[in-house]
Amino acid sequence: MTDPHPQEAPLVAPAADPEDRAIEAALRPKNLDDFVGQKRVRRQLSLVLEASRLRGRSADHVLLSGPPGLGKTTLAMIIAAEMNAPLRISSGPAIQHAGDLAAILSSLTDGEVLFLDEIHRMSRPAEEMLYMAMEDFRVDIIVGKGPGATAIPLELPPFTLVGATTRAGLLPGPLRDRFGFTGHLEFYSTEELELVLRRSAMLMDMKVNSAAFAEIAGRSRGTPRIANRLLRRVRDWALVHGIDLIDARSAGAALDMYEVDARGLDRLDRSVLTALITKFNGGPVGLSTLAIAVGEEPETVETVAEPYLVREGLLGRTPRGRIATAAAWKHLGLEMPQNVAAAMPEDLFSVAPEDLLGSESGLDSWAQPDS
Ligand code: ADP
Repeated sequence: MTDPHPQEAPLVAPAADPEDRAIEAALRPKNLDDFVGQKRVRRQLSLVLEASRLRGRSADHVLLSGPPGLGKTTLAMIIAAEMNAPLRISSGPAIQHAGDLAAILSSLTDGEVLFLDEIHRMSRPAEEMLYMAMEDFRVDIIVGKGPGATAIPLELPPFTLVGATTRAGLLPGPLRDRFGFTGHLEFYSTEELELVLRRSAMLMDMKVNSAAFAEIAGRSRGTPRIANRLLRRVRDWALVHGIDLIDARSAGAALDMYEVDARGLDRLDRSVLTALITKFNGGPVGLSTLAIAVGEEPETVETVAEPYLVREGLLGRTPRGRIATAAAWKHLGLEMPQNVAAAMPEDLFSVAPEDLLGSESGLDSWAQPDS
């Protein structure tokens, strides 16, 4: 059967594609109670919002960090809804000049929530303007150039900035310090993703049994956006096959067809592991050699496949190159030879993930590469 949805981006990519953007609005939880998981962030945020409601003031500025697809935009929308305030959405890359930011800030209304996605990608002058706006609710608009330039102070109404970033480490300290609350979103457990899927299936009017939810959740890489995307593919498959009630077998068959395996690995992930094991006896092998073996650019292997493989403990990055772990051999149904096991660096799993990932891309390499 041909693929009814030829994908440009991999089905398991955490960033939103145009189809996601079109459909996500309908699936986003509208209040904190419907927001699944992230208990700690939810509890703390709920307190921040309640306190500001009691004080009758706009809420403290909120910084949300974490990988794409975990609910940062959704939380920003919930904050605005819970505060009964309008929401303005922009992003770091859209604010390249201080003037761009001044235009947004000067048109905010009292109590408005300003959501700045990818806030780490804002230009330096805009960032500096934001410091003053966040702290004192005013900005200096510079008119003219050179020695004749003058600063005209502009008072702003109180507003709440919600900044989102996939790369909290790239945020300058002075900016980070100006947020009253910082929440870091973690990957979701399979059980939490089942709840996300249950809610989405209900909204999409699908009949799905519990085992099927578990099957899809297990392949969703801890990410609600991926879970919802896989659910849509399963829905299409069931429609084409005339299946009314989706069970684990149908869900599994559908996702097998899309080449997303039981652990959420896609074709590229598996071909990286297969090459590493069958062509290089499990490694270590350098990134560029590995990339040639799978017919991809080194950057694709490093930024698209590796972060999840490392997170899952299937691939290790050592100073001598990439290695397949015992779990990777097992996942491919192979037994790791004794001599390979004996040569494995002993401390591989005692190393923090950020060290395993290497310093050139850091822990944040689960983030999309900056364009
Ligand atoms: P981010 O801004 O972090 O990339 P989004 O907020 O856009 O992620 O979330 C992506 C999709 O995942 C949204 O459509 C939303 O419906 C869903 N989602 C994310 N987090 C949750 C959650 N905690 N509960 C239910 N659905 C969620």
